[in-house]
Amino acid sequence: MAFSLLNQLRQINRHLVELPCPGCDQDDPHLIWRYDRYFLRVNLSACRHCGLVYLARGMKDDTQARFYGQLYPRLMRQPPATKAMWNYKLIAGYRFSEISAVVGQCQSVMDVGAGLGFFLAACRAHNYDSYIGLEPGGPQYDHAVQVLGLGGHVRPEKLDEETQLPFAPQLVTLFHVLEHIQEPGKALARIAKLMDPKGWLVIEVPDIEADWHELGLLQVHVSHRSYFSQQTLEKLLNANGFYVQHWSREAYGIYEGNLRAYARLGETAKPEVAPLPTPVHDLQAHILKQIRPLSLRNGYPRMAWRLARL
Ligand SMILES: [Zn+2]
Repeated sequence: MAFSLLNQLRQINRHLVELPCPGCDQDDPHLIWRYDRYFLRVNLSACRHCGLVYLARGMKDDTQARFYGQLYPRLMRQPPATKAMWNYKLIAGYRFSEISAVVGQCQSVMDVGAGLGFFLAACRAHNYDSYIGLEPGGPQYDHAVQVLGLGGHVRPEKLDEETQLPFAPQLVTLFHVLEHIQEPGKALARIAKLMDPKGWLVIEVPDIEADWHELGLLQVHVSHRSYFSQQTLEKLLNANGFYVQHWSREAYGIYEGNLRAYARLGETAKPEVAPLPTPVHDLQAHILKQIRPLSLRNGYPRMAWRLARL
């Protein structure tokens, strides 16, 4: 089993291709770090044009389909063990309460990348009239339908240009999803068309400019294409019809350096001088300080051990 997993990873590695910046589509990477947590050659880079940190080598089309179909559930242990489920459920309840405190009570929601379905179930429990989740991952979708009874409310698909909804959601959520999407700008533009014009878009991503040294190398993952900061996420939102009304970060939060944006459709007054992106050399220094490649807890030795056990 371990052998075939490593073989599959090696195959993925052979099929990685050069990718442009997911933020601005330019091809001007400043290389920061070559390998991801699975020893795949991903070339983590900062875009010299827009400042977004991204993988300048990564998966496309077939390779990506094979990765999410065959490898991702095994690497990420989806579905999680029964004894680990409480954690996912508590996180969903926590998110629901944090978000409701800002946006108030909504009637309708779309959760993009609904995962195991706990957040959608929390919305159902709080009397949302309409709720829909998109979840292309097989084991996660099965859990949402079979265990949480969300059949008819979750679709086994990802968001794309063809996505249509039976209602315009007042709340759209993406929890640790945007960084996986090949063309995140297009996804945001699609959401802008689908949602209630007075609604809220709530996005959570890992913040690359935060302190995440406890995660270390684990942060760098072939499926994470973009590594946003407040600035680069805001730029992408602005470019696709949104402005950010509120940001939140919490100590001891869900994920080290978790960043949550509460965005709405429309424009805010533009600052007279647009803030400059963090200089690539500062970004590089920050990232290299957080990645601890030789750490026994979360560096390459640990990842080799984990892969061998899988
Ligand atoms: Zn860029």
